[in-house]
Amino acid sequence: MSEQSWKKHTKLFIPGPVEVYPDVLSELAMPTVGHRSQEFKDLYADTIPKLKKILYTDQEVFLSTSSATGVWEGSIRNLVSKKVLSCMNGAFSDKWYDVALLNGKQADKLQVEWGKAIKPEMIDEKLATGEYDAVTFVHNETSTGVANPLYDVAEVMKKYPDVMFIVDAVSSMTAMKLEIDKLGIDCCLASVQKAFAIPPGLAVFTVSNKAMEKMATVENRGYYFDFKTFKKYGDKNNTPSTPPIPQIFALNLQAKKMLEEGMENRLQRHTKMKEMVHEWIKNKGFELFPESGYESESLTTITNNKDIDVGDLNKKLREKGMVISNGYGKLADKTFRIAHMGDTKPEEIKELLDNIDEIIG
Ligand SMILES: *Cc1c(COP(=O)(O)O)cnc(C)c1O
Repeated sequence: MSEQSWKKHTKLFIPGPVEVYPDVLSELAMPTVGHRSQEFKDLYADTIPKLKKILYTDQEVFLSTSSATGVWEGSIRNLVSKKVLSCMNGAFSDKWYDVALLNGKQADKLQVEWGKAIKPEMIDEKLATGEYDAVTFVHNETSTGVANPLYDVAEVMKKYPDVMFIVDAVSSMTAMKLEIDKLGIDCCLASVQKAFAIPPGLAVFTVSNKAMEKMATVENRGYYFDFKTFKKYGDKNNTPSTPPIPQIFALNLQAKKMLEEGMENRLQRHTKMKEMVHEWIKNKGFELFPESGYESESLTTITNNKDIDVGDLNKKLREKGMVISNGYGKLADKTFRIAHMGDTKPEEIKELLDNIDEIIG
């Protein structure tokens, strides 16, 4: 790599961080305001209601100065007192189980093979034992490209109103349908560097009224992620500690743009890009990695059945100013991933696929 290689612009088609567009980048360059100033309160008060619309919720929405991983820990600390059922089918959901144990909570695995989806009946069977007071569920497993059936699982969760339904929507929030209140989600979290298409450093999360009540009964919630503190400050249009103010400027703009585009149009754009990639896979003789019918809308994981050199492909793509992602962890070279989320447009996906065609022939 040349000197200061990080200054070269390579367009990102990796599943996070994703490509950030110039209008959003320029928001990050706004003059800093104090986080206890009226200007900040106005910014916060303008941003949260937009997020509530985008997420279809009338309940709490908070901003965390961390990536989503921090809120994994926060949700466990605030909402689990008995035992959590950890739904596991990829790298992220697998790690969330570890987070529960490392925070001193009891946790059981509901595990299926990477590439397969978690089915509602599996959760139903486990919850029927009455052993659990929380479920952790990753909506869109970014490591495998599997979209777990959130809407069907939500139906099952309605049978267990005392069990906290905690959802990681890191790579699906604003890219896939996610109606927080209708689904009865108690806590839903995401980082902004995925489908929000903002540089990393901030997480968005929701908390239901039921979860706020539950939280008040849970001991040892810790300090940094105590939901009670988020509520106390949120009510004053503030965050508990100094937030990444530039990211919040950018979030405000993105939320405005999403509402202008319309959430349905935004979701359709993601579906269209997914379909383009699926079509390309079929034409090229590749295969989809996820279990059929459970493919993500925001990224596609492709089985490398033609044994292409993924590293070499990416090297050549970089020369054309673009980059995709190898498979995650143990799936490297066996799979590769193309992200189609955030502000990415169908024409850009076409350009990417044309470039790949030129390289692999
Ligand atoms: C990226 C990702 C995470 C981790 O997010 P950070 O922002 O790195 O903390 C968690 N879950 C899923 C599904 C992800 O895609």
